[in-house]
Amino acid sequence: MDNQKRAETFTYALDGNLYLNLTSKCTNDCTFCVRNERADYFGHKLWLSREPSAEEIAAQLPEDIGRYKEYVFCGFGEPTLKLPVLLEAAAEIKRRGGVTRLNTNGQANMIWKRDVTGELAPVVDKINVSLNEATAEAYAALCRPAFGEAAFAGLQDFAAKCARRGIETWFSVVDIIGREKIDACRAIAAACGVSLRVRKYIG
Ligand code: SF4
Repeated sequence: MDNQKRAETFTYALDGNLYLNLTSKCTNDCTFCVRNERADYFGHKLWLSREPSAEEIAAQLPEDIGRYKEYVFCGFGEPTLKLPVLLEAAAEIKRRGGVTRLNTNGQANMIWKRDVTGELAPVVDKINVSLNEATAEAYAALCRPAFGEAAFAGLQDFAAKCARRGIETWFSVVDIIGREKIDACRAIAAACGVSLRVRKYIG
């Protein structure tokens, strides 16, 4: 059991950030998800057989919280599925002076059937919502959300609410979708009051 515990990767350092891995579950089933392809990511085994508690995450934080630029709730799955753990761990990081970021599919309000952005705002500094596509139909085909095409409007509403609460919020897309779609995504972002970040595709 102890060996099994030790084998879990709840946190890992990358590019000066500490990534926090709360769950392997997700409400999407993206065709490109690394969960479909490999059990590790940059050498880290991210597929969890057991999910961490907030205390276990807190125990893995460095004594010097400034050691990492950002503490990023990310991982293989959707962090907001573990909202109570996320909020507790983020509050501890904020209490100690760290910067927190959430990488999400933006479906938290659909998952929890209420507006959770007011709970996120005090403890999450930055939110990166994966937009991925320019239309609900294309998003549903690419990300295969449990909520169907409604997920696309849902994630936009979530991002807009996060921005209105003062969280630094942006949508992300990958450059391979092409100029036309990127322009359409930029318009969606503007309508939501968030920015758009275009990431370079890494095959
Ligand atoms: S939202 Fe992220 S974790 Fe979920 S299936 Fe898509 S790529 Fe994977």
